[in-house]
Amino acid sequence: MCLATPAKIVGFNQDKILIEKDGATMEVSAFLLPKAKIGDWILYVNDLAIKKIDAEEAREILRLVESPRNKVKTELLSGKFKKIIEKAHQNDLNKGEIIYLLNSEGMEKDALLAEADITRRAFIKDFICIHGIIEFSNYCENDCAYCGLRSANGAIERYRMSIDEIKETAKQAAVEKGYKLLVLQSGEDNFYTDDMLVELIKQIKSVCRVFIFMSCGERGFECYKKMKNAGASGALLRFETSSQSLFTKIHPQGKNLENRIEHLRFLKELGYFITTGSLIGLPGQTIEDLADDILLIAPRAHMVSMGPFIPCDNTPMENCPAGDPEMNLKMIAVLRLLMPTARIPVTTALETLLGEDGRKRALAAGANALMMNLTPKKYRSLYKIYPGRFFDNDSLWQKYGLFKYEESYKMLEERMAKEIKRK
Ligand code: SAH
Repeated sequence: MCLATPAKIVGFNQDKILIEKDGATMEVSAFLLPKAKIGDWILYVNDLAIKKIDAEEAREILRLVESPRNKVKTELLSGKFKKIIEKAHQNDLNKGEIIYLLNSEGMEKDALLAEADITRRAFIKDFICIHGIIEFSNYCENDCAYCGLRSANGAIERYRMSIDEIKETAKQAAVEKGYKLLVLQSGEDNFYTDDMLVELIKQIKSVCRVFIFMSCGERGFECYKKMKNAGASGALLRFETSSQSLFTKIHPQGKNLENRIEHLRFLKELGYFITTGSLIGLPGQTIEDLADDILLIAPRAHMVSMGPFIPCDNTPMENCPAGDPEMNLKMIAVLRLLMPTARIPVTTALETLLGEDGRKRALAAGANALMMNLTPKKYRSLYKIYPGRFFDNDSLWQKYGLFKYEESYKMLEERMAKEIKRK
């Protein structure tokens, strides 16, 4: 579903409603609201007015999304910075230029984030999508050094949801709450055979109209092919870090970066909507590595998923410092400039470090989607990839994720098809 935007009616033009938006007048279709009058507050998505609301509700929604925007004095920005921003808009940044942007501080950092915000608005308007994630198993056969789900961690209680339970959770999210895109995530857990995952996807697709994104690790070409044929639309698979040496250090023997990249290659060939990205702030990771991450993401991803590393107890990296959320914001901004129409969700790890404010700040730095946790409450705290995970307890966002109708599904379908075609 999408977050609808409030606006006040300032006039009419035949069958259109005129609203005020950022100091200018804009037209939206009035066919759902034939009785609206001047001075009423409405919610609209794209160019469709969908609902009348009262002024207090409008203020609540505006408060949710508004973020303090620092005024940027463009005359104080260096010539070099301005040139790099111009090149970013041409999708033509080299590694050195990306590093320059990632190193920006103060005025130039504010300008980078503001430029990404403007780019998001110019290309996709105030279109914030709300997606859901269901974490269906915390069993994992891997031993990634950063992750609390690693098989060597005997300190967490393990759970697996049954196919029926996952289906019911998905159905409830789609039918009752209006979610249109669900990510199904787990550790690498071969308890679920290819046939079980295929069955799961088919069953969900038979009871609700929802896009399914699979995030269950390196299952190989055949499995992803079967899941695609069963109705999966997307895959979420981070490459974690583009640095070969760092990848080797934090992953157990037998796991390699090439296989992750190979997965991304064939997922694209199979027609998946690709979501990928990296961990930010891994010990020993350099700014050059982060620039390489961006260069790996930009040409491959339709949707970006990256978040700060957060140390997790009972892992070999439990005493390492957490990644810098400010760097995460700058990474989002650079990617928004390079990928103006891509889907960039605010990740839970970033919200964990920055709290509710993180969501607003990430949206103001170029992000355009939110990921709500839909894992049944009894399992949530057990999916402990890292501690203290942020959960959205107040449901204001879900309450105002109002655009739940069939048009929302169709819009998403169109947008995803366009992105896939673009790359
Ligand atoms: N098994 C799936 C899903 C892994 S968990 C897969 O292999 O793709 C989802 C993501 O959580 C990982 O890709 C990793 O980037 C992130 N993650 C794991 N441990 C983390 C930590 N300590 N801090 C921040 N993110 C972490």
